[in-house]
Amino acid sequence: MSSGPGQYGLFAVANATAHELTYEIPEHLTAKLLPGTLCELPLQGRKAVGVFLNFCEKPAFACRPATALVPDCPPLKTNVIELIRWLAHYYVAPLGRSIHLAAPGFVWNLAAHAKRLKRTGRKSKTQPITVEELPLKSLNDDQLQALSAIRDVERGHVALLQGVTGSGKTEIYLHLVREALTAGGRALVMLPEIALTPQMCDRFRVHFPLDLAVLHSGLTSVEHEREWFRVASGEARVVLGVRSAVFAPVDNLRLVVVDEEHEQSYKCDEFPCYHARDVAVKRAHLENALCVLGSATPSLESYVNAQRGKYKRVQLTVKHSRQSNRVELFQFRPKLHSTGGVSRGVVRSSQFAFQGHVMAPGIVDLLRETQSRGEQSMVILNRRGFAQFALCGDCGTALQCPHCSVSTTLHSRGTKELCHYCGFSRPLLKHCPSCGSEKLVQMGLGTQNMEQELTERVPGMVIDRLDRDVLTSQSRLSEIISRFRKGETQCLVGTQMLSKGHDFPKVTLVVILNVEDGLFIPDFRASERTFQLLCQASGRTGRGSLPGVIAVQSLGASHPVISLALQGSVDRFLTDELKMRQLGWHPPVCRQILIEMHHSSEAHLMHMGSVLQKELTAAWTSQGLTPQNVRLTGPMPAVLSKLKGQFRMHLVIAAQREIHPAKLVPQEILLRKEFQHLVKIDVDPFSFL
Ligand code: ADP
Ligand code: ZN
Ligand code: ZN
Repeated sequence: MSSGPGQYGLFAVANATAHELTYEIPEHLTAKLLPGTLCELPLQGRKAVGVFLNFCEKPAFACRPATALVPDCPPLKTNVIELIRWLAHYYVAPLGRSIHLAAPGFVWNLAAHAKRLKRTGRKSKTQPITVEELPLKSLNDDQLQALSAIRDVERGHVALLQGVTGSGKTEIYLHLVREALTAGGRALVMLPEIALTPQMCDRFRVHFPLDLAVLHSGLTSVEHEREWFRVASGEARVVLGVRSAVFAPVDNLRLVVVDEEHEQSYKCDEFPCYHARDVAVKRAHLENALCVLGSATPSLESYVNAQRGKYKRVQLTVKHSRQSNRVELFQFRPKLHSTGGVSRGVVRSSQFAFQGHVMAPGIVDLLRETQSRGEQSMVILNRRGFAQFALCGDCGTALQCPHCSVSTTLHSRGTKELCHYCGFSRPLLKHCPSCGSEKLVQMGLGTQNMEQELTERVPGMVIDRLDRDVLTSQSRLSEIISRFRKGETQCLVGTQMLSKGHDFPKVTLVVILNVEDGLFIPDFRASERTFQLLCQASGRTGRGSLPGVIAVQSLGASHPVISLALQGSVDRFLTDELKMRQLGWHPPVCRQILIEMHHSSEAHLMHMGSVLQKELTAAWTSQGLTPQNVRLTGPMPAVLSKLKGQFRMHLVIAAQREIHPAKLVPQEILLRKEFQHLVKIDVDPFSFL
C-alpha cells in the first residue's frame, strides 16, 4: 500500500444505501489506515462511522475528506468484513445496509465512544482473579462415539449432531471447545435467543471461567461493550452468544457450534434478513473451522443437507439418564363459550373460553399426584392460544386495530385494547363496531388465567409464571428459574418458551395445552413447528433419575404430526414432511424469496407491485430463466394487509435452489429510486404475515 498526498479510499459506511463510498484521505491518516479501521466520516451533513476497505484511484467526482479515526477502537477483523460481504450479496443488500452487523451498536455511535473513553479513563485496570476451573465430565460410550465421528469431519465442514434432548449434546460441545483451545484455536457457540441463556452460560463458565465471553440481549450496554472488547483483544477465547454473536470479532476460529439449529430466532426479521445458522456455516467454511449444528429435531433444511452428503449426520439416540417418558393424550373439549369463531369453520383451542375449566380432569389428577410425590411440573400453553381478544357474540366480528388489519389484544384485566403492531390503545369498546351488539365476549387463554385455574384446582401447589412480561427483566427471570431449580416452586406455567433447553432434573410432568393450534396457520412450516414444540417439550422431563410423563391435551382426533412427535419418530416425520415440500415447491426443495412492499396508498402499491413483477420477469427472461426454473406469485395483499396505516403487499419467488438470490432479484432494480423505500427483500423467509 503506497502512501503520500492525493490518496483516496473506499469505505463501507453504516446506514448508507450504497455499497461503498469514496473519501479523500488526509495525509495524517494515510499511514494509520488498515483494512477494517474505523473512521469518522462526513455523510449528508452528519457524522457517520465507516470502515476503511482499501485505497483507490482518484475518482471522477469530487469527494470529501475523512475526518478522523474513531479513537481507541480496534479495527474490525477482515474475516468478519469478508463474511459481511458474502451476506450482503446473498441477502441482496447493499454493503452500507449490512456493515452495521459487523459490530455492536456502540461501535457506530460517536457519542457512545466519547462516553466509553470517559468511563475507561476513570477506571484503573482490574487485577486478574484466579478462579477454579471444573474438569469436564467424562463422556459415556454413545457420546464418545459421536465425538469421534465429529472429529472425523474435515475442517471447514459441517456435522449435524442429532440427539434427543438430554442425550448430552452440551457435554459434547464442551469437549469440542476444550479441544479447540488446546489446539491453539478459539470457539464460537451460538444459542437461540431464549430464556435459558443464563443457564447455558453457567454450564460453560464453570469450565472456562477466564476464557468465556457472553454476548446476548440481556446485557447492559456497558457489559456488552466490555465483552466485545475482551473478544476483540483475544483475551476471551470462547464466545457464547445469540444471533448477532455470529459476527463476533474472533480470529483463529477452530470451532463453531450452533445449538438448537432449528430455532426460528436465528432468523433476523429486519433487513438484511440473515439466518445466523446459515451465516455460521458460511463463516466456518471461510475460516476453516469445524461447524457443529445440534438439535433433537433438525430443520428440514439441515436434514436435506445431510441427505445430500453436504453435512455429516451424527446421532445420539438415548438420554444420558436412560429414562424414557410415558405419553398420555387427553382429548378434551371444554364447553364452548361463544359460537363466534366456530361458525367460521376452524376450531381452535383458543376459542374455548376459560370460564369453566380449561384442563381435562385427568390432567389435574396428574398434577396433584406429581405434587404429592414432591416432584415438579411444567404447564405449556401453545402461543397461538396465548393472546386474549374480544369477539362479538352476535355477529362474530373480532375487535380490530383501526390502523392495522389485526385483532387487538386485551390488557389490564380486559378493560383495555392494545395493538401489538403499532401500539394503538383504547378502553374496551362497549359496542360491536359492525352490528352494534353489546355482547362482546373475551376469548383466548392467557398464562394468567392458567395460573388462576391451577391455584383453584390444585390447592397448595406453589406456582410461578414465565411469560413475555417476565422475560423483559433479567433479574426476575433468573429469580423464577432459581426458585424452580431449588424446588421452592412446584409448577411453572408459561408459553412455549418453557419447552426450550431448560435442564430441571426434578420435572416429571410436562403438560401441553392447545397443541393443535399451531397447525392451523397459513404457513408451510406449521407442521414442522408444532412437531418441534412437542419434541422439545417432552425433552423437558425424564432428565434426572426419575421417569417422566407428558400429558398432551388436544381437541379432537390426533393429527399425524402430533402422533409422530409423541412417538419420537423424528426421521419418519422429516421424510414425510419432505415429500409434502416437494409437492408444494416449498423450501428446502426450492429457494424462496419474499418481497414485501408497503405504502400508504393502496392504489399506488398495486401499481408498483405490477411494475416490479414485470421488471423481474423481464430480468429473468433476459438471463434465460424459464417457468421451469422460477415462479412468481403475486402481487397479492399480505395476510396483515395493513399495518401502522400502511398497506402491505407480497410477491413470492420460488426458484431452483441452485439459482443465486442476486440473480433472482437484481440489485439494479432494487436500487432504483422508485423501489428503494418501498421494498423489503427477505431471502429464505420464515414468516409470511
Ligand atoms: P442436551 O444438550 O442433549 O439436551 P445435556 O448436555 O443437557 O443434553 O445433558 C442432559 C443432562 O445429563 C445434563 O444434566 C447433563 O449434565 C447430564 N449429562 C449428560 N452427559 C453426561 C455425562 N457424560 N456425565 C454426567 N452427566 C451427563
Ligand atoms: Zn357484532
Ligand atoms: Zn395497530
